[in-house]
Amino acid sequence: MKEIVPSPPPLVHNQYESVRQLFSQNVVPSYGRFDLVLSHGAGSYVFDVAGKRYLDLGGGIAVCCLGHAHPAITEALVEQSRKLIHVSNLYFTEPQGRLAAELVKRIGAGKCFFANSGAEANEGLFKLARKFGHDEGRFEILTATNSFHGRTLAAIAATGQDKVKKGFEPMMPGFRHVPFNDLAAARAAISPATAAILIEGVQGEGGVTPATPEYLLGLRALCNEKKLLLFMDGVQCGHYRTGRFQSFQRILEAATPNSDFLPDGISMAKSLGGGFPIGAFWVRAPYADLLGPGTHATTFGGTPLACAVALKILEVIERERLDDHARKLGDWMKHELEHLVADYPQVLKRARGFGFMLGLELVEKIPAFAASDKSAAVQFVNRLHSAGVLTIPAGTQIVRLLPPLNLKPQEAGEGIGKIEEVVKSLV
Ligand SMILES: *Cc1c(COP(=O)(O)O)cnc(C)c1O
Repeated sequence: MKEIVPSPPPLVHNQYESVRQLFSQNVVPSYGRFDLVLSHGAGSYVFDVAGKRYLDLGGGIAVCCLGHAHPAITEALVEQSRKLIHVSNLYFTEPQGRLAAELVKRIGAGKCFFANSGAEANEGLFKLARKFGHDEGRFEILTATNSFHGRTLAAIAATGQDKVKKGFEPMMPGFRHVPFNDLAAARAAISPATAAILIEGVQGEGGVTPATPEYLLGLRALCNEKKLLLFMDGVQCGHYRTGRFQSFQRILEAATPNSDFLPDGISMAKSLGGGFPIGAFWVRAPYADLLGPGTHATTFGGTPLACAVALKILEVIERERLDDHARKLGDWMKHELEHLVADYPQVLKRARGFGFMLGLELVEKIPAFAASDKSAAVQFVNRLHSAGVLTIPAGTQIVRLLPPLNLKPQEAGEGIGKIEEVVKSLV
């Protein structure tokens, strides 16, 4: 089914050009942006300024967990903004306390700190690790190669990818990288200065690579043995994207049904606010009071407005059982992608991930892509734009699907159909 693509009337065309010009003259060009100017959205769809409709399987990079313009989010924003938007953390407010309780309920005994982004949530975990190890002179945090933890100075030092560090040396000291899913490497890397280990449950920017159950359980035992904190970055893979609140809950359920596994800290952001900026970290009970009064703060952290939105999102997810929905429909999509991989081995190498955190891995040398120096992932994503679907590249070979948790079955089918169209065009 082709979407109607009307040739843009002159006025709208000017809008595209004028927005592009505003950016080229006034916005720091730190992003490699696609050639789209988007104006509004509804549910799983967004529209560009020419009126073309796109099925949004990228979800604003795993952020828009209830899709676009969800009435419950609008209502929460309007209602709370009529009462109180911000008062600072010099005072108590009910929404922050209630949101913390909801997160604790979904993870385990502990406490939460609220920030504004994923990088900032991780930054809080870094400070927690430093405080934890301080009196013994321990400060170092081990992270995984191919990981991604954000773009602040500390977060790029933590991130296990050279491309985010390049040009910003010297790196902040105190981070070392070990191969992901390699327990022996983690054990071997621990030094007397090591205080914590931080991993993603499912590496996102690294290309949708889940941790194995053995790795998670092994790291837990290793951290207990060496008295290290085990942190998990749930910024992308958390918030029900895998069908469970945190990805480790999904990863471990098959291996050990009654596992009492818990990390010592979890960072959250992205889907937590459904598009309204909010980040958080949860810290397990024994360490929950390590960051005492005056040790950590952020002006906007946990405003009544941000927390009201996050609370509303949790309420909708729970009421509509979107966790089960994401698991079932996501796993159906994975299955369909696996079919495509089997049918088009000249183009597709593998389907990755689970739930609504999926990756489609492209083969190394696709002849149709040879003429351009853009990565295969970017060229594939561009072709999907022409077909009316938004997806997210990861690395050079992987295209990510991170759709809203309330994606409809027929929308999932439409997305798979259009992906197949693009794949066919490359054979
Ligand atoms: C996006 C992301 C971050 C950074 O979040 P920001 O809100 O962009 O600072 C950190 N960790 C992971 C796993 C992410 O996917």
